[in-house]
Amino acid sequence: MMDEKDFYKILGVSRDATVDEIKKAYRKLAHQYHPDKHAGDKEKEDRFKLINEAYETLKDPQKKANYDRFGYAGSGAGFGGGGAPGGFGADFQDIFGEVFSDFFGGGGRRRPGPERGADLRFDLEISFDEAAFGTEKTVKVERTVACSACSGSGAKPGTHPVTCSTCGGAGQVRFQQGFFSIARTCPACQGQGSVIKDPCGECRGSGKTRSVAPLTIKIPGGVDTGSRLRLAGEGEYGDRNGPSGDLYIFITVRPHPIFRREKDDVICEVPISFSQAGLGAEIEVPTIEGPAKLKVPAGTQSGKLFRLPGRGIASVHTGRRGDEQVIIKVETPTKLNKRQKELLQEFAEISGEDTTPLRKNFFSKVKEIFE
Ligand SMILES: [Zn+2]
Ligand SMILES: [Zn+2]
Repeated sequence: MMDEKDFYKILGVSRDATVDEIKKAYRKLAHQYHPDKHAGDKEKEDRFKLINEAYETLKDPQKKANYDRFGYAGSGAGFGGGGAPGGFGADFQDIFGEVFSDFFGGGGRRRPGPERGADLRFDLEISFDEAAFGTEKTVKVERTVACSACSGSGAKPGTHPVTCSTCGGAGQVRFQQGFFSIARTCPACQGQGSVIKDPCGECRGSGKTRSVAPLTIKIPGGVDTGSRLRLAGEGEYGDRNGPSGDLYIFITVRPHPIFRREKDDVICEVPISFSQAGLGAEIEVPTIEGPAKLKVPAGTQSGKLFRLPGRGIASVHTGRRGDEQVIIKVETPTKLNKRQKELLQEFAEISGEDTTPLRKNFFSKVKEIFE
C-alpha cells in the first residue's frame, strides 16, 4: 500500500531527478495511461490518477520537500488538492494541452459567444488645403450593420430569441468521457446560447445587413498622407451581439500646384527676376492663408531660403504651427529683344569680378587645383 504512494516509483524517476526529468517521465506515463485510450478500464484510470498526484507533488519544490521529509502524509497533496474542476491544477492543463492537443481540439479553444466585428479600412483622398485646415467629409462605406427591422436580434420584430433549452444559455454542453468532462459547442444553438423561433424576415435571422449609408467623418487639420483616423465602433457589426469593429480612414493628400509639405512646414519655391535678385525687392509670396510680403535683399542668390515663422500647418498632435519656407529661384532672362541684349552686353562690359564674387572665388579655386 505504502509502495503505491511512492511518487518516485510511480513516475519511475530517481529521488534526485530534476524537474525536467520529472516532467518528461510524467508526460510519457500520462500518454500511456490516458483514460481516453482505455475507456472503462478502472485500473488504468486509477493509475492515471496516481501519476497525476505524483507529478503534482514532485514538480512543486515545496511539496516535494515536504514529501521527501514526511512521506505521503506530508505532501499535503491529495489528488485534486488544487480544487480545480476535474481535479487538475492549471499546470496539468498546460502539459495536458501539449500532449493531447488533438484531444482538446488543438490549443486555440474558441469560446462561443459574442464576437467583435472586423475592422474596416477606407482610403480617402483629400486636398492639400483640406489636410492643412481640417474638413468634414461624407463618405459611403459599405459595411455590416445591425438589422434595423429587428435591432440586431435576428428575431422577428415583436418576438425575442429564447434561451436555448439544450445548454440552458451557456452555449456549451459538457459530457463525460472517462472521468473527463469535456465542453463542446452546443449543437442546438451553435454556441449562441439562444435560439430564434421566428426569424426576422429582413435579415433572415442573422441580425445583420449590409449597408452603404453615408457616414460623416471629421478630419482634423494637420493630417498628411499616411495619417490614419480610427472611428471606434464604425467597423463591421459584431456577431452574436458582440461589439462592432473599428473603421480606419487612411488619408492620402493630393499634391498642391505650388506648395509642398515637410512635416508641418510648407515649402514654396518662388521665382524672382534677375534684376529683383540683384537690386533687392519686396515681393509677394503665397501662403496657405493667402499672399504675404517678403523683402528680398539685394544680391539674393538662387536657392536662398527665407522662413516665414508660424505660416505653416498646425500640427495635428500639438496644434503648434510650422513655418513656411520660401526658396528663391532666380530666373535667368530669356527671349531678350535687341535693346535688352544691348543693355546686358553693356552691363557685362562695365562689370568687374567684384559683381560676381562667387564666380571669382570658384575660378580661383579651379586655378589652384589645376595649375
Ligand atoms: Zn433583422
Ligand atoms: Zn444551446
